[in-house]
Amino acid sequence: MIVLFGATGDLAKRELLPGLWRLAQAGLLPSRYRIVGSARSARTDDQFRQHAKDAVTQFGQGEPAGEAWDEFAGSLSYGAASPADPEPLLDAVAEAEKAIGGHARKLFHLAVPPQGFTSTIDMLGQTGLADNARVIIEKPFGTDLASARTLDKTVHATFDESQVFRIDHFLGKESVDNILALRFANGLFEPIWNRDHISHVQIDVPEAIAIEGRAGFFEQTGTFRDMIVTHLFQVLGFVAMEPPTSLAAKQLRDETSKVFEAMPPLDPAQVVRGQYRGYRDEPGVDPGSQTETFIAARVEVDNWRWSGVPFYLRSGKSLGQKRQVVTLGLKRPAMRMFALEPAVTDEMHSNRLVIEFDDPGWIEAHFLAKEPGATRRLGEAKMTFRYTDSFCTQYALAGYERLILDAMLGDQSLFTRADGIERLWEVSAPLLDSPPPVEPYDPGSWGPDSIHRLIAPHRWFLPSNP
Ligand code: NAP
Repeated sequence: MIVLFGATGDLAKRELLPGLWRLAQAGLLPSRYRIVGSARSARTDDQFRQHAKDAVTQFGQGEPAGEAWDEFAGSLSYGAASPADPEPLLDAVAEAEKAIGGHARKLFHLAVPPQGFTSTIDMLGQTGLADNARVIIEKPFGTDLASARTLDKTVHATFDESQVFRIDHFLGKESVDNILALRFANGLFEPIWNRDHISHVQIDVPEAIAIEGRAGFFEQTGTFRDMIVTHLFQVLGFVAMEPPTSLAAKQLRDETSKVFEAMPPLDPAQVVRGQYRGYRDEPGVDPGSQTETFIAARVEVDNWRWSGVPFYLRSGKSLGQKRQVVTLGLKRPAMRMFALEPAVTDEMHSNRLVIEFDDPGWIEAHFLAKEPGATRRLGEAKMTFRYTDSFCTQYALAGYERLILDAMLGDQSLFTRADGIERLWEVSAPLLDSPPPVEPYDPGSWGPDSIHRLIAPHRWFLPSNP
């Protein structure tokens, strides 16, 4: 049984309800499942079913109909809950359990605002619902080290760490999981995956959208907390980790934690904070706001494999394009023997491996090749892998779908662990304590001009289309 707290919220509407419907369609839910929606406000079962149908129509694959939908809708029920009055939820859970035919393992998904985490978790403990259950907790996992520790203490007062699934939907993406396959299932890439061959790494997640009316959330959060501490650092963990001894949750998460341990605390002088022109005119934004809508940061991983290789992270709102890309820039060969084609710039001379992880994702290897003809002039060439060229993608799952399924199966390997999260807040502390002032940038650009000084002598690879 899944109990979805925050069932009437934005995340449930955009991702979770359409995702659960897709899992049901794919036959990946248990044969006798029930989904209980919950929030503080009252609703009837039928109102919740209609809400789910609207969500699937708007954010899924169009208006659902037929027997399959009727069966899914029949599995939905609703029980309001507040710390003072959990009774309607308890009744709904008891009803759902009866429908399943006995005691059912429960998965709680806490898609509620951070201020609702503690009261919801305490309520699960006090009512006994938490016994033998699993809990998915949405980001943010704190806003700094102290709050992350407090949250972990609250969680661990009710749940053992083995019951806790801290969700970061980037880790559920096919192409992020595929980084592990690329590296550890092939002999081709891993031998060059180190400081001897790689000059620098870029993890670039520009967004074209602005804050879309979410000033209340964004003014409190900013791009660093919203994107870097969560998603980009986690992707970095996959790119930089040592080969784990197995893909089991402990081994995999031990390795990402070691990467985070090897990251020295951020140097604020190696961070550019930007704010798009017009942000302060958005409704609800403080006219003197210093909240960043853009971050570029140079990060180190100080270990045997990566020492001296900078990792450049960039993310922001109102940028030129929406992309999610890891680029590994390779060092030049020892000698340059060939004449270059005039159009080939020095920068292109560096080979690079580009991993686009926005669904459906693709991988490109950029290299130089001889131009056909009597001369030995070179031009830039590339090889591209697209999922659809090699695989049937009918069963591909979106990040949330994959992770909810993993949580149902009890597989924590793609979920973040308390020690890793706390270490990332430790790494972030100098920047949170002394943030540099925000620099303005034009909407539609790639951020403030000073990002070029940050990355010199390298250059930002502008994402290209395959
Ligand atoms: P939202 O639109 O404000 O919805 C919040 C939901 O939680 C509603 O159902 C609300 O219903 C309930 N709620 C509000 N305050 C509560 C409280 N104190 N205790 C229990 N329930 C409460 O928020 P959201 O955007 O869906 O975000 C929910 C969580 O997901 C947040 O932690 C957010 O950081 C995370 N998240 C959101 C997104 C996204 O794209 N939206 C992406 C990643 C992570 P009632 O007011 O009736 O209780």
